[in-house]
This record gives sequence, structure tokens and C-alpha cells, in this order.
Amino acid sequence: MTYLRRLPKFEYVGPRTLTEVCSLISGGAPDDAMLLAGGTDAILQMRRRERVPRRVIGLKGVAELDFVREQADGGLSIGAMTTLHSLLSAPAIRQRYAILHETAAQIGGPELRNIATIGGNIAGALPCADLPPALMTLDAQIKLSSHRGERWMPLRDFFPEFGRTVAQDDELLSEIKLPRPAPYSAGTYLKFHDRQSMDMTVVGVGAFVVLDDDGRTVRELRLAYANGAPTVFRAMKAEAVLCGQLFGEKVLDAVAEAACSESSPRTSWRANAGYRLSLIRALTKRAIRRSWQSASSQKGTK
Ligand SMILES: Cc1cc2nc3c(=O)[nH]c(=O)nc-3n(C[C@H](O)[C@H](O)[C@H](O)COP(=O)(O)OP(=O)(O)OC[C@H]3O[C@@H](n4cnc5c(N)ncnc54)[C@H](O)[C@@H]3O)c2cc1C
Repeated sequence: MTYLRRLPKFEYVGPRTLTEVCSLISGGAPDDAMLLAGGTDAILQMRRRERVPRRVIGLKGVAELDFVREQADGGLSIGAMTTLHSLLSAPAIRQRYAILHETAAQIGGPELRNIATIGGNIAGALPCADLPPALMTLDAQIKLSSHRGERWMPLRDFFPEFGRTVAQDDELLSEIKLPRPAPYSAGTYLKFHDRQSMDMTVVGVGAFVVLDDDGRTVRELRLAYANGAPTVFRAMKAEAVLCGQLFGEKVLDAVAEAACSESSPRTSWRANAGYRLSLIRALTKRAIRRSWQSASSQKGTK
């Protein structure tokens, strides 16, 4: 059993600009400084003594990290400090990136969504986090900023192992970019959890389907999983099974089997590995089916 204790003593710093944040973390010692976004995970980590930072750097005052912006190329840019509530309120996300809207709506309750941020959900590197799989199916790129400059990378390469990201100690996640959605495309995120809300994900499956101009052949499939392995991951071998094929139940079975082979879920008090694999098999098929139906229904509307 893990006890929640009083917060340990720390110095709090409240920078107002990204440049100030980069300079504050430029020292790079892991437990010297900790970034605090909404604090919904970070405060619990401190109360459990999993993190005991000397200095906490609050990002709330950094207004330049809080935005949802449409791009000239048709894509969308989201600042790391954008709350889940702001994601849900953005018309561009509701209309053009429905899978992200649908996923954010399934996280926690309204109080949590008012303070929890997209950056914290990604950078926390929890295998059960719900936004990373949805964002991976949208082919999201992320920007890491530091006093040395900035670099972009695909989100799918961000989690090398359980609880870790490839960010250096002097880097923070500052922005998420989504490419313009292709015609005849749609995605679905299905999350299995014990109760209706306020419970962590047992297994989460994101599927995104892009159809050819005939409206029937699958040009691209992207699949990503929460709690299917020690990190959130894309199942790229399973994706390849459906690419270039007409949609059908037989090929769907093959995709689901391939996804199970790529998964390595753990046994915990929430669910054992065998049960999680059954969920992966069933939810993969269901998520692809729904995405395909939604993408193919766009034929004739474009
Ligand atoms: C009751 C409850 C229910 C929950 N339900 C869900 C759920 O259904 N689905 C789900 O996915 N999560 C859930 N969570 C977990 C959590 O709320 C989310 O992961 C949330 O999005 C974290 O965001 P935050 O802004 O609060 O991050 P914080 O707690 O502030 O930070 C989390 C971690 O990320 C680091 N960090 C934050 N921002 C950055 C940045 N920009 N760059 C680098 N590092 C950064 C912090 O140092 C910390 O290690 C739940 C939590 C609670 C308490």
C-alpha cells in the first residue's frame, strides 16, 4: 500500500516565459527541479515520495504554452499547457480531430479536466495515459525546448521504456502538432475501465483509418495502445495487415491477432495479462470497424 503524506519541502518558482523555464532547467540534474503543469499527477508523486524535488517550477504562468492554433497548412498546433477542458472547447478539435475530442472527454471528471494539461498527460509517460494513443493515431509530432534550442520528433518515438521519455533533463515538452486530416479518414478511441469515470484505463485502443478515393480500400491504418505494454505504443505490424486491403471481418481478425502479438500487457490488481489481451483483441476490431464506418460514410460528402 502506498501512503499519501504531506508534501515535502521545496522551493516554488513561477516563470512567465518559456525562455525563463529553459534557463531554470538548464542545470539538468534529474531531481533538482520538477516541472509542475496541472499537478494532478505530480502532486501525488510528491506526496508518495516518488519525487522529492528541491525546486518546483510551475508552468501555469507561462501563457505562451497555452494555445490551440490552426496552421496555414491545414494542421493544428497545441501548446503543452492547454488544459483538457480547453481541448474540448476548441471547435477545430471537435470538428476535425474528433478522436482527440472523444478521448479528452473520457479522462477523469470536469474538475480534473479543468486543470490537467495535454503536456502533463504526455510527459508523465504513464502506460495508461489516454491522450498519447489518440495523438499517435493522428501522427502527432512534438516539440522539445531547451536553452540549447528546440527539436521536433514523432510522438511515437517519445517513450523508450516504462515511465520514461527521451527528453533530456534540460528539455521540456512545449508543443504538439497534428497534420491536416486526410479525406475519407476517421478515428476512434475505446477505453475499457471499471467504472464510468474517474478510473484509470485497463486497456485503451486508438484506431485511425484512411480510405482510398474508392471509399472502400484501406490506404492507411494507425493503431496505438494504452496499457498494452510497458509504454504507450503503435502496433505497426498489425497496421500493415490491413493496408491496401478491402475491409472485412476475416482481415480484421488477422489485424487483431497481430496486435496481440505486438502487445505485452502486465498483470496488476486491475486486470491480468490474459484479460488485457482479450480486451486488446476485441477493442481493436471494434475501434477499426467504427473508424471504417465513419470514414466510408464520408464518401459522397466531399
Ligand atoms: C482522479 C484522477 C483521475 C485520472 N484519470 C485519468 C484518465 O482517465 N486518463 C488519463 O490519461 N489520466 C488520468 N489521470 C492522470 C492525470 O490527471 C493526467 O495524466 C493529466 O493529464 C496530467 O496532467 P497535469 O497537467 O496534471 O500534469 P502534472 O501532474 O503537472 O505533470 C505530470 C508529469 O509530467 C511532467 N510535466 C508536466 N508538464 C510537462 C512539460 N510540459 N514538459 C515536460 N514535463 C512535464 C511533470 O514534471 C510530471 O512528472 C487521472 C488522475 C487523477 C488524480
